[in-house]
Amino acid sequence: MPHQNPLLENKTLPRFDKILPEHAKPAIETILTEAEKAFSALEKSLTPTWNGCVLPLRTLEEPLDFAWGIISHLHSVMNTPEWREAHDTLQPEVVAFSLRMSQSEPIYHALQSLKTGPEWSSLGTTRHRIIERALRAAKLAGVGLPEDKRKRFNAIKRDLANASTQFSNNLQDATKAYSLPLTTADDIKGLPQSLLRAASECAKQHGSTSSTPEQGPWVITLEMPLFAPFMQYSERRDLRETLYRAFVSRASTGKLDNNPIIDTILTLRQEMAEILGYSTFAEVSLTEKMADSVDAVDTLIERLRSVAYPAAKNEMADLQTFAAKHGETNPILNWDVGFWAEKMKEAEFGFNAETLRPYFQFPRVLEGLFDLARQIFGITINPAENGMPAWHKDVRTFEICDGDGTPIAAFYLDPYSRPETKRGGAWMDSVRPRHRRPDGTITLPAAYLVCNQTQPTEDKPSLMTFDEVTTLFHEFGHGLHHMLTTVDDPEAAGVNNVEWDAVELPSQFMENWCYHRDTLNKMSSHIDTGETLPEELYRKVCKARTFRAATATLRQLLFSAIDIELHHRFQPNNGISPDDVKRQIGEKFTLLPFTAEDRFLCGFAHIFAGGYSAGYYSYKWAEVLSADAFEAFKEVGIENTEAMATLGRKFRDTVLSLGGSQHPMEVFKAFRGRAPDPDALLRHDGLIKT
Ligand code: ZN
Repeated sequence: MPHQNPLLENKTLPRFDKILPEHAKPAIETILTEAEKAFSALEKSLTPTWNGCVLPLRTLEEPLDFAWGIISHLHSVMNTPEWREAHDTLQPEVVAFSLRMSQSEPIYHALQSLKTGPEWSSLGTTRHRIIERALRAAKLAGVGLPEDKRKRFNAIKRDLANASTQFSNNLQDATKAYSLPLTTADDIKGLPQSLLRAASECAKQHGSTSSTPEQGPWVITLEMPLFAPFMQYSERRDLRETLYRAFVSRASTGKLDNNPIIDTILTLRQEMAEILGYSTFAEVSLTEKMADSVDAVDTLIERLRSVAYPAAKNEMADLQTFAAKHGETNPILNWDVGFWAEKMKEAEFGFNAETLRPYFQFPRVLEGLFDLARQIFGITINPAENGMPAWHKDVRTFEICDGDGTPIAAFYLDPYSRPETKRGGAWMDSVRPRHRRPDGTITLPAAYLVCNQTQPTEDKPSLMTFDEVTTLFHEFGHGLHHMLTTVDDPEAAGVNNVEWDAVELPSQFMENWCYHRDTLNKMSSHIDTGETLPEELYRKVCKARTFRAATATLRQLLFSAIDIELHHRFQPNNGISPDDVKRQIGEKFTLLPFTAEDRFLCGFAHIFAGGYSAGYYSYKWAEVLSADAFEAFKEVGIENTEAMATLGRKFRDTVLSLGGSQHPMEVFKAFRGRAPDPDALLRHDGLIKT
């Protein structure tokens, strides 16, 4: 009997014209029932070979990946109550099954035997990496531990999950609990209209039903969309100070105190690392990264710091001079930096997000982007010919072809914001990876590119801010990584199996082209005059990119250094608190000392409630890779189209093609001929001369 449920039709691209929320439950239940049966049978009949172990797993996972991928995607971009319900009720079952597979003892042992067996040497690097990764994931999931240790390990996992949830709940509650009421014209001095509107909305939520954006009253909380612009624009130094002090001490006292939770998390992570056979949690984290040791991370941080610190000092002196010239009689303190930096930026560059918008019409930007891709990577991108059904009328569908016209991949681009039903932010996700099947046929990769840029109006196309343009390039870079892969095994094709701190290389690399004069000429066209971005504005845009770059760098380094320190050298319960560590490190990484009540670790959700623990450095690590890769293009002369095409081809054949099939260091060396150079990032940020 043919399948009636479109979520089960995984031989084609998703039939978004047919898929409905009511298909989700029966499809996933059918898939899971069959998969569980097949998995149990497989566990009993495993042979330690590629065909006897890895291939059957792939076959078993494919229908689930396909259907669940679509459901998760629609949950993000068409978040109706029906899709939310379908997604949320099914998620626990899907997670449970994935967990069961990754924690299977028989699979683990079969993979281990495979690694020491006769077939291993003939499998090649790609398959070695796939198997080693599966083994590592299993090991980190506690598989292979003796019974008593495993019990303790599972208890730690559970306690850690609870502690992280508690951490983020406390942080959220503390963030919401604080409010700064503003009532007089003096209180709102300097605040832009958009902030007043938001602050009036907030006042209404706090019970002030009569609030208007013009008359107030207004309320500011510690939530980013209110806090950040207030610190940037408020002319009331005293209120900035009050708000700043509240912000850095969030969730650090009373019922919502995160300090004890930080202790618990660090202690449990250390114990977990030891159970797994590592000496610290940072070592556990690094097993899945490109950076091969804490030393390598330390070295990068110190190299960048040694240059950024004195440069940031100069930036601070400039800011102080600027503030004094504009009437500030006090020395600049923590709550003044954002405010004066904003004023200085306005004075130096005289443009803002709105100034550039009329130059960037979405259709023209896309043309410029696709033309660039043709120039440097030799690919052509055209609207999908056979019509790929999509989930929304605004979604555009494209096909990528090689220079000779051979189709390589397809993608969906969902560009505009739809606040009611679409998650914020921008991302690339896999519809399916490239896959050469045992019979030799190839399934081409496909990707979702999702942005949240300004919508078009009835008579005008979407006019993009420069940020929206760079975001589009960024996600397109992830997309190319996924789609230009030539790896045949889906487990390592495209972005699959790429180490976490290397995965942003192609995306950040693509962002650089937004500052490329030629590309800008092609993609900018003023909505009224048709004029390309004027030279003067172009120079300002380039200069603004590195405005106060040392200060920004130093801040990221501070977070990276604290994160690594706490997860590597720090000994929990040893008389020194995490906050003491923060203060010690701050001496080398900040220009203004932390205030007495500062407990920003209590709000450092990235490492205590997110996935960045002992991985915060990855931001900088990946920036080094992308800056260094881009520098190769500058070296050959970026206006030399022929040389660019040759180098572009090399980038395509290495970074974009090899995906997760080789270690990222090998991939990088294949492109650059040497290991990455941190100084490339310093040059990119204008911190050392080129
Ligand atoms: Zn990214």
